[in-house]
Amino acid sequence: MLTFITSLARKDVLKMVRRYGLFIGGRWVYTSPDKVVEITNPANQDVIAEVSFADEEDTKEAIVSARDAFENGPWRTMSQVERGKLLLALARAIRERSEELARLESLNCGKPLRESRVDVKEAADCFEFYGGLADKVKGEITPTPDTGFLGMVFREPIGVIGQIIPWNFPLLIAAWKLAPALAMGNCCVLKPSELTPITALELAGLIKEVGFPDGVVNVVSGLGPVVGMEIARNEYVDKLSFTGSIEVGKQLMRVAAEGLKRISLELGGKSPAIVFDDANLPFSARWVQFGIFMNQGEVCSATSRLYVHESVYDSFLEELLRITRGIKIGDPLDEATEMGPVISKRHLERVLRYIDLGKKEGAEILCGGFRLMDERFKRGFFLSPTIFVGCRNDMAIVQEEIFGPVLVVFKFKDEDEAVELANATRYGLGAAVFTRDVGRVYRVVEKLRAGVVWVNSSQLCFVQLPWGGYKQSGIGRELGTYAVEEYTQLKQVVINVGYGTV
Ligand code: NAD
Repeated sequence: MLTFITSLARKDVLKMVRRYGLFIGGRWVYTSPDKVVEITNPANQDVIAEVSFADEEDTKEAIVSARDAFENGPWRTMSQVERGKLLLALARAIRERSEELARLESLNCGKPLRESRVDVKEAADCFEFYGGLADKVKGEITPTPDTGFLGMVFREPIGVIGQIIPWNFPLLIAAWKLAPALAMGNCCVLKPSELTPITALELAGLIKEVGFPDGVVNVVSGLGPVVGMEIARNEYVDKLSFTGSIEVGKQLMRVAAEGLKRISLELGGKSPAIVFDDANLPFSARWVQFGIFMNQGEVCSATSRLYVHESVYDSFLEELLRITRGIKIGDPLDEATEMGPVISKRHLERVLRYIDLGKKEGAEILCGGFRLMDERFKRGFFLSPTIFVGCRNDMAIVQEEIFGPVLVVFKFKDEDEAVELANATRYGLGAAVFTRDVGRVYRVVEKLRAGVVWVNSSQLCFVQLPWGGYKQSGIGRELGTYAVEEYTQLKQVVINVGYGTV
């Protein structure tokens, strides 16, 4: 039996090592001890949970359960109104447990509590949005040239959706995937990251509690090449929805092609922030700092490349440096903390390798560039916020996604050069522009090749608006009414109302 954290005092919750099984067919399935994995807190490496990891057979069982629920269960035939009500109940359940969920998220992925609280709120908002949308999605009756024939378009669920997600926004991305898919009548098999399965499993507990039919949602923790790959190739999965790295996204696309499976991909980024000379500099510096150092820089859309007009370069950097040096690094559960540890030792080493590479390639470190090792930090994976100047466009630190607290900075002369540099990567997820000139906003936004553009801000995300990348940052769009297209298919129906003959 899964122990729900709300039944315990908070101090006990944070101390106890919780056990989680696989969530298959509405039941908790506990694997043999050799398939149980310890999940640790990246701030101190304490074990916080023991989680059953699925193998291929367990994953197949979860997929069959979703298939059965789709073909034979009540979900697909349930009225859209009833489906929407369940999603709204789930949103309420998340809100009721929001503080515990936020604390668990911070414990598991090192995110400052203040950011985890926002994630949990946005996860609830997401279920609420799609709960409200569930009964507003409709087909149509379309005129045909012959009035004896009634033309109609049905919008139907696709079937079983395989959803594979990363470790940087574990609960929120689970919500982004599940809420629209469920609202449209699909059944799901969700694989959280092997590093951060906890809040997705807590969500599964809430899904059971609020009364979703068995098998509609299945959550299987485990390794990518085992569980993720089985989801990708299994013939009972009709569509794959993946969020993660470009490299894994490409592999999955190849596997999906074998089965001609539908696929949508939300991939990495190396997003630019452009600061023009007419921008409000102190205000823009705060957004630029947030745009790269939020969530330790482990954000797909982090504005990790900064372009500053040459006439304000020095004063802007001075202000940015001042703010960056003031970032409060510490225990993610501390209310004051603004930056926690990165997710794992492996990831810390990866980021440090990029920092070394940057130095070897000739970039100059303006601040940071090292692991924090004093008493408070040495058991965790804490990095100092790092800013590089003197960069060239062909450097690895400029072209590759580091996915950590590392910013590279350039000077530019004019608008054309800024746009050209901003577009000069294989990525196209986000971009931020800082200026007070409305004409420039329009010109620059139009030329930027990115799926999300922020003007005088960065990293904001609203469930009502479409999310997704240009170029290699992805295929498809999540959120808003746009996600309806990703999780439905159209059926043309022609009814011979006039009984005309051939
Ligand atoms: P990742 O690609 O390593 O892993 C993502 C998921 O895929 C995990 O669940 C993992 O277990 C699984 N996986 C790994 N190898 C697999 C395989 N061979 N077959 C099937 N599944 C496999 O990415 P990550 O390190 O977890 O997350 C970081 C990446 O995610 C970054 O590139 C980041 O930009 C991206 N991301 C994108 C968005 C977006 O909205 N575009 C959002 C968050 C993160």
